[in-house]
Amino acid sequence: MEPLLKIRDLTVKIGEETILNKLNLDIDRHQNVILFGPNASGKSTLLGAIMGFDNYNIISGSIEFAGKNLLDLKPDERARRGIGLMFQHPPKIRGIKLNQLADLLYGDNKDPEEKNMLVKTLNLEYLLERDLNVNLSGGEIKRSELLQILLQSPKLLLLDEPESGVDIENVAVMSKAINRYINRHKVSTLIISHTGYILDYIEANEGCVLYSGKIICHEKPKRIFSDIKEYGYEECGDCRDKER
Ligand code: ADP
Ligand code: MG
Repeated sequence: MEPLLKIRDLTVKIGEETILNKLNLDIDRHQNVILFGPNASGKSTLLGAIMGFDNYNIISGSIEFAGKNLLDLKPDERARRGIGLMFQHPPKIRGIKLNQLADLLYGDNKDPEEKNMLVKTLNLEYLLERDLNVNLSGGEIKRSELLQILLQSPKLLLLDEPESGVDIENVAVMSKAINRYINRHKVSTLIISHTGYILDYIEANEGCVLYSGKIICHEKPKRIFSDIKEYGYEECGDCRDKER
């Protein structure tokens, strides 16, 4: 069966700098992938390119989602096809309440109980009437952002370091909502993790590493994380060279 997301020979530049270099990645249906990689290796760039943000210059290669080419589509069209990206740093918007946006994103034709359940799981009831992300703590912003993404019913969930700036309790709360969503709707995820904390909570079945502009290594996420902790990312390069 065709993978849900299929990336082939993707080369992406920011300005003159080549960030991703002939990168290949497949994500199957109902597959949960954790992406590791050194700081500034291009992890956020990869998610931005999948989402179609215009500061990422696609030089060559292809990105297909559910068998269709994505590269000609704008970010909102990609979102409508079923790709949801949780930002590392979501914006604050005065004058828009979380609940207003939540209703807009969820639409009228879905089960309101499901929305209520998500709000409850993410412990967001008390924030619904507040302005979006204004004067919220790091954990509150992340939980609010996750709600907005899940309400859009994505088939592929892209999470950019969901645990950054968030305490362990909030990581546990967010992971509960993510696991519930993944299992209920049999969706796929690509989750960037720097700290690895999320591994104790999210049921991910594959890990990979972004290194020198390419995806290298496909292994159990916990195995990759413990090797990175023990040997550092430099060894990833050596290990890749040995595999050749
Ligand atoms: P990661 O998420 O792995 O830490 P990024 O994808 O954010 O890395 O960044 C990859 C590289 O691209 C970094 O060297 C970063 O400084 C650079 N970069 C990212 N965004 C921009 C931008 N808008 N302008 C210039 N350089 C950028
Ligand atoms: Mg990043």
